[in-house]
Amino acid sequence: MNTTKIEWAEKSVNILTGCTPISTGCRRCYAAGFGRRLKAEYLKRAPIVDTPQNRANPFALRYWPEKFAEIAARKKPARIFMDSMSDWFHQDVPGDILRNLFTFMVRVSRHTYMILTKRPDRMYGYVLANRGLFPDGVVPGHIWLGTTVEHQSVIGRVDVLREIPAKVQFVSCEPLLGPLELDMRGLSWIIVGGERALGARPMDINWARSLRDQAVREGIPFFFKKHSGCGEKEGQDQLDGCQWHQFPTVNGRVI
Ligand code: SF4
Repeated sequence: MNTTKIEWAEKSVNILTGCTPISTGCRRCYAAGFGRRLKAEYLKRAPIVDTPQNRANPFALRYWPEKFAEIAARKKPARIFMDSMSDWFHQDVPGDILRNLFTFMVRVSRHTYMILTKRPDRMYGYVLANRGLFPDGVVPGHIWLGTTVEHQSVIGRVDVLREIPAKVQFVSCEPLLGPLELDMRGLSWIIVGGERALGARPMDINWARSLRDQAVREGIPFFFKKHSGCGEKEGQDQLDGCQWHQFPTVNGRVI
């Protein structure tokens, strides 16, 4: 389990690695770059779909179940981003692995788990078909389910997310690549940030302002990560001179 630079989490754990691009937000995928850097380590493990092509591809899907023990060993509760290096709901992740992931998170409930996907259709289908894994058939408040909406062309992901029986549903608008008409009804949290990479596509500050103002109006916690660009600059984590680091609450408290 690693301490993460992702501002909205305390730790990150990668029980899965690897993915394939699905939308424009994937163009500068941070995880793919990491896969290239850790190629030697990744290639030692057989890919989930074991083909010669995948064996040579460091960003093919791989499963690292030994990471469960690291999370279980940590007694102090932490807010953990589950998989910054993959997308759990990729079509090639077997249902058995998803079952292991959810069963573990339900059982080890002292931590808060944050799961973000660009494939909420499969997340929806999986949760609905496996409601028996969750108390009262609802994903409990220490498991936060989120989807990424980087552009208006994928806004439909939010409607799918909203249908999932879960206490905490959040939307990450990162990298924000255009203005969004976002229906925030029923959502627990909005994250906004620009693309962070060499040659990053710019985020207009007014796109971020508009989402912040709407979240404030609707009483939804808002988290602003960083403006687009690369390198460290003073004030890059501020919007109009303020740091916005709000979190969802369940029964009146951040969990
Ligand atoms: S869905 Fe996420 S992990 Fe997968 S390619 Fe896109 S940005 Fe990378």
